[in-house]
Amino acid sequence: MSTVLLADQVLTLDAKGTIYTPGAVTFVGTEITAVGPPPERPTGEVVDLRGCVLLPGLVNTHTHTPMWVFRGLTEDVPRGEWLTGRLLPLERRLGPDDLRRSALAGCLELIGNGVTTIADRYGHMDAVATAVEASGLRAVVGHSLFDRSAESDLARSEQLIERLGTDPARARVWAGLAPHATDSCGPELLRRVRRLADRTGARVFIHLAQSESEVAAVLARGAAGCASYLDALGLLAPDVVVAHATYLTDAEADLVGARRTAVAHCPSCNAKLEGRVAPVARMRRAGAVVGLGTDAACCNNGMDLFDEMKVAGLLNKVAADDPAALPALDILRAATSEAARALGIDHLVGTLEPGKRADVIAVRTRGAHLRPWHDPVANLVYAARGSDVTAVFVDGRPLLRDGRLVELDAERILADATQVARELADARG
Ligand SMILES: [Zn+2]
Repeated sequence: MSTVLLADQVLTLDAKGTIYTPGAVTFVGTEITAVGPPPERPTGEVVDLRGCVLLPGLVNTHTHTPMWVFRGLTEDVPRGEWLTGRLLPLERRLGPDDLRRSALAGCLELIGNGVTTIADRYGHMDAVATAVEASGLRAVVGHSLFDRSAESDLARSEQLIERLGTDPARARVWAGLAPHATDSCGPELLRRVRRLADRTGARVFIHLAQSESEVAAVLARGAAGCASYLDALGLLAPDVVVAHATYLTDAEADLVGARRTAVAHCPSCNAKLEGRVAPVARMRRAGAVVGLGTDAACCNNGMDLFDEMKVAGLLNKVAADDPAALPALDILRAATSEAARALGIDHLVGTLEPGKRADVIAVRTRGAHLRPWHDPVANLVYAARGSDVTAVFVDGRPLLRDGRLVELDAERILADATQVARELADARG
């Protein structure tokens, strides 16, 4: 049976940027079958979303759902102290079941904000993946790899690949490879990651140049910088997604682009934890594919890609000293079509077109902060909020309707994860 979503407007984000006013999206099962003006006699289930605009579900290229539990525990930390000084002591206190419970709350937050696809990575990914699967989100998940636990991390990564596969066309949740960063992963581990990626087809996700100490550690190994270090190991490539890429020289930013590397740009996290703007304009000019990421809830302090779009626009204009820099459409694409390209899933999602998966969101446009509706793209990037999202479909399955979760029990999930947070806060004193 087909489902027809009727709305005031449909932004397809296709190559031409086609917009239908009013518009409809029709899907059968998991697949979009028609996008255009509302049909005269719609058949099947009709969902009345008038008062809303439809757009592709948002794609979050970098997050850590279990870190939902740390929100508010790592505030205003001096540069260089956040990760090892503040976060690691907290992380050591949590076990796999705590992380699973917290990840489910994180997924709930993401769905409520109109995110339909995430690139998620953390420790104990076997437990976390169970929560992500249960949430209904589309996701690529990777178990973090470190030098200090390389053998067991590699074994767990392979198990995850065996369990979920690496093909986004065959599974809603699939596996990637997630070496932690260029300082915490030496050349031997990264060579093994490259070989494993080549053998399994898994995409690689790594933090790149996210702190000054990371750069110092890589320079001490004799590399010219974090990007050159990865390049020498075959890990600046179109199948690699580097997160942050904050501390790069011009030559290194150009190298990231020249290799057509995908970049997960997390501007609010970079601003809050490092007081910096990553050189994304330069990387894009050089050829990088840039998608937006919220990073974790304790970095910025939430997982709302509408927020992230606005911050991306503002900070990149400031960084360029040019109010015309990074136009709104480029930003909206970095949360939809370009983000999908960064994750290698643009054949499946990121636009509303027949043949693509039915990942669709509806944003209410009736609030005072969204009127008048002269420029839909600018309104979505600079004026809309995650809380304006009223409906979310992934693979045609409704996850959110009338602003409420359809299948998940929000109250129970939030109470459960809040309990983990409370115990954590008590334990640290
Ligand atoms: Zn991260």
